[in-house]
This record gives sequence, C-alpha cells and structure tokens, in this order.
Amino acid sequence: MTHKMIKLFVALGAFLALQPAQAQEYPSKPITIIVPFSAGGPTDTVARLMAQAMSADLKQQVLVENVAGAGGTQGANRVAKADPDGYTILLHHIGMSTAPALYRKLPYKAADDFATIGLVNDVPMTIVARHDLPPKNMKELIDYVKQNKDKVTYANAGLGAASHLCGMLFMSAINTAVTTVPYKGTGPAMNDLLGGKVDFMCDQTTNTTSQIKAGKIKVYAVTTKTRVPALPDVPTAQEAGLPGFTVGVWHGLYAPKGTPKPVVERLNKALKVALKDSNVKQRFADLGTEPAADNLATPEAHLAHLKAQIALWDPIIKKAGEFAD
Ligand code: ASP
Repeated sequence: MTHKMIKLFVALGAFLALQPAQAQEYPSKPITIIVPFSAGGPTDTVARLMAQAMSADLKQQVLVENVAGAGGTQGANRVAKADPDGYTILLHHIGMSTAPALYRKLPYKAADDFATIGLVNDVPMTIVARHDLPPKNMKELIDYVKQNKDKVTYANAGLGAASHLCGMLFMSAINTAVTTVPYKGTGPAMNDLLGGKVDFMCDQTTNTTSQIKAGKIKVYAVTTKTRVPALPDVPTAQEAGLPGFTVGVWHGLYAPKGTPKPVVERLNKALKVALKDSNVKQRFADLGTEPAADNLATPEAHLAHLKAQIALWDPIIKKAGEFAD
C-alpha cells in the first residue's frame, strides 16, 4: 500500500467513524428538557411525565430543568441558543405562539429558531379562585370583579404565560382591568391561591384538577368548548355566561434549529412512544387532558400548528392589548 493510499484509508475511516456513528449513537448521554416555568406547575407536570416515558424509549436519562422567568420566554431563549445536538430540548405551551404579539422585542424567533419535534397534548384551563372568594358562580364572579376592581387580584405566570393570556381575555371580555400578580409559574401562584394571598386565576387542569376535587379552591368554568370529563360538573365558560370564551393550552417539544434530522426523528419516535405509554395516558386523563394523536405528534404538524397559532393570536392580543399588564 502506498503512503497516499494509507492516508486515504485513515481519512475514510475517520469520516465513517464520525458521520453515521454520531446519529446512531444518539443519545449517548442524558438529555435535558427545559421547562420555562417553575417546578410543581402544570407545564412541569406534563414535562416530567413525558421525560420519564421518553427516557425508557431512549434508554438514557431525561432530566427536567426549570428555567423560569419572563412568562416562559427565558426558557425558550435558553433552548434557542443551545447547541443543536439534541441534548437540550424545550417543552413549551401556547405561549410560544402568543409571546411574539406580547413582546415588542423577543430575543428569538418562535417560528424560525427551533426544530419542532411534535405536539404533546391540549390542556383545558379553568377559572378558579381562593376557596372563600364570595361569588358562587361565573355571573356573580363577573359582578364581583366589576364592583371590586380596585382590590381584586389576579395571579399569573408573567407576560406570555397561558394564565396571562386567559386573564387578559377575561378582563377584556368583561371590560374590567384588575391588579395582576405575576409569578414564575402557576405552581407558586397556586400556593398563594391556596393560602388566600391572591383572589383568582386561570390555569391548566393539569394544575387545578386535584385542588378542585379536594375542595381547596373554587372553580367557575372550564375554558374549552365542551365540558371536561375529569370535571363533569364544571360548566364551560360559554355556558357560564362568557360567550365565545375558549382557550386551550397546547404543548409541543422543540429542539434548537439546526439539530440534525436523525436526532429530531429519534426524539419524535420517543415522543410517540411516550404518548402511548399507559401511565402517561392514565395521568393525562386524571388531569383532564389526553395525548396528541399520532398525526399531530410530528415535526410538520407541530410547525404548521405553531405558525397558525401565531397568526390566530396576533390580532386577538392586539385587540385585548389594553388589558395586557
Ligand atoms: N400554567 C402556567 C402558565 O400560565 C405555566 C406553568 O407554571 O406551568 O402558562
């Protein structure tokens, strides 16, 4: 063998060792799912359930890290700027599509800076209050809020959070602004609602169902078009007197833009397996949600949904914008 040939073989060997192995070996170390809200809240709950089930399929640890702040935009930005190697991914919700209309300057582009992996689920929201807030139903709540607008407090997880969006829509619907109290997630907001430190909020059933069932908080409505099987006695906002009031919190998994296709495909496979996991299905049902169907748990369907939601919310948010603080 000539010297030239040896050099060629060595180069070829190095190339083969690098290229396909990179994709085949993935994942070769733990993966971190960034949750852009506090631990113990609804996004965190969904992420931890998914992490556990995806980890079994990926045969690697899947860790959850809470990067909370600025209504979910801080955690999203962390992932937008992370190495596109499939080891740092994001589980985020509807806020991915509403933040672009709410922030004058976002440090990332929601539709361009991520590789979508797939949709996870759709979670209803509930309008809830501290257990001793006087109103007994939605009609009374609306009157109460109007009459006490200078002292009533509404908890949310910051500008860009689903709880912020829902509160903004509620205030706009009843044409009354109240004081908002922002938290880094509705986990801590729920603690203050339970402790009677804030009056009301709107949050995912993944955080409120067990507290509602235990009678620890009051519930006025679910925000979906139809009633939620896990909370069959709770009227929809529409039934309760807020015509056309619907918000569903969809979740999706994202990798940074530039993540190799085989890595995204591997993560997508793990997502699909996790969505069929019996524990995930059961826990989702208990918490008022269900896994995304196979045809929605794809990078393409997720990207299309994200873009459609950005277009949907932009004019609605601009119209309700005076209630955005
Ligand atoms: N439910 C929160 C929200 O308002 C987020 C969270 O704490 O998971 O978006």
